[in-house]
Amino acid sequence: MLNIRVERAATLKEKPDESKLGFGKIFTDHMFVMNYTEGKGWHDPRIVPYGPISLEPSAMVFHYAQEIFEGLKAYRTADGSIQLFRPDRNIARMNESAERLCIPQLDPDDVLYAIKTLVKYEADWVPHTPGTSLYIRPFIIATDCAIGVHPSHTYLFIIILSPVGSYYARGIDPVRIFVEREYTRAVRGGTGRAKCGGNYASSLIAQKKAEKFGYDQVLWTDGITHQYIDEVGSMNVFFVIDGEVVTPSLEDGNILPGVTRASCIELLRSWGIKVTERKIKVDELFEAYDAGVLNEAFGTGTAAVISPIGVLSDDERTIEINGGKIGAISQRLYDELTGIQWGRLPDPFGWIVKI
Ligand SMILES: *Cc1c(COP(=O)(O)O)cnc(C)c1O
Repeated sequence: MLNIRVERAATLKEKPDESKLGFGKIFTDHMFVMNYTEGKGWHDPRIVPYGPISLEPSAMVFHYAQEIFEGLKAYRTADGSIQLFRPDRNIARMNESAERLCIPQLDPDDVLYAIKTLVKYEADWVPHTPGTSLYIRPFIIATDCAIGVHPSHTYLFIIILSPVGSYYARGIDPVRIFVEREYTRAVRGGTGRAKCGGNYASSLIAQKKAEKFGYDQVLWTDGITHQYIDEVGSMNVFFVIDGEVVTPSLEDGNILPGVTRASCIELLRSWGIKVTERKIKVDELFEAYDAGVLNEAFGTGTAAVISPIGVLSDDERTIEINGGKIGAISQRLYDELTGIQWGRLPDPFGWIVKI
């Protein structure tokens, strides 16, 4: 077990107004930090006051983006306890991302212990208002002071915490999506499967373009033919076509294997609803729409849980899905997942980890 040293902040911040949290703008009093040095391994785990870290301008992460991150949440239940949702999945995925980016592996038990210890230490920061939570952002950065291109020999693993507001404070509002065929998020053999900052840096331009045309997010298509669907914004994507749920398969390695995605598939199958993971053409959606069988479309991710797609548009056509409203399957998944996460519903799958 990690032996975590604790340095308490001299002064604690005032807790924010829970009705005005937003997403990722406020950070708690403390953070977890651990160093890696080649030959020595991961060492010096510590909880220290949240604040600036000092790096030389030559630190590799600034130049070559050798960086990975994760995102999960701690939820406050009605009885005041705090719980995590499938943290083992995030930790396993962090090690998979690390492998792709030539970053050394972490012991999954150590990471879970670090998350639990930090959240427990900052327990007063887990908000109580329905729909709010404490977002947990673990990340690893390459810190070698050298601008030759090579995998770094030193790293920092840091966990920061941010109380976040209800994603749907004003009710679930379906999003407008633009089919992106110019820019690419990921290609086979690239880093699409890894949760790394570089993927986000290269996706900003398409998001900006979609917003300029009046859309909320981008529907990413494959980088080779731009005919097959990968993801929506920074979420996985599902469609209900003629009562069957379909979602792009993970096999090409373009797609981030979402924890919410996996959980939706398991839930749907437990309800006896057919789910197929396969390649999906954009044209197939328009054809299903014309045939009157494109029932629902939605994105999945930790932040929003379920994000219904109300409008889908490419350069030629614009369609409105399910009258621009959330569909029955989307709503049922949202209710079930959020029910389990906030402890309002039983957890038959053993997904919850108590703090
Ligand atoms: C994090 C992420 C997701 C969603 O994953 P969850 O584990 O469900 O939060 C989907 N796509 C991309 C690109 C992501 O970075």
